[in-house]
Amino acid sequence: MDCIFCKIIEGSIPSTKVFESENVIAFKDIQPAAPVHILIIPKKHIPTMNDVAEEDGPVIAELFAAAREIAKQQGIAESGYRLINNVNSDGGQVVYHLHIHLLGGEKLGALVG
Ligand code: 5GP
Ligand code: ZN
Repeated sequence: MDCIFCKIIEGSIPSTKVFESENVIAFKDIQPAAPVHILIIPKKHIPTMNDVAEEDGPVIAELFAAAREIAKQQGIAESGYRLINNVNSDGGQVVYHLHIHLLGGEKLGALVG
């Protein structure tokens, strides 16, 4: 399959991994938008949040559990961070393998509110 993130999972494209479990991996974004910018992805190829099925519930929960653990590991759990999921073109999605951006390490500008 022609998916950059599936290639990262199988190891044919290198990445700086910061977390790995049975169903989830996380690695540093190649073009960081903040001092900490990590992508958290399911090992299962799910293109977008729109494609999440009922049976994927547990793996979605695992993505958020991984985010909490990585935030602690990176030392930003208390100072704070932001989780973002871009969906399709208007949402700014470029890679069509579900991922959550974990951003932090500085005061982030307000997006909403
Ligand atoms: P999206 O816009 O789809 O939500 O975010 C895709 C993200 O993947 C971007 O922040 C981009 O910098 C990152 N990215 C794209 N290609 C690669 C790659 O080959 N390696 C890594 N580590 N990140 C990538
Ligand atoms: Zn994929």
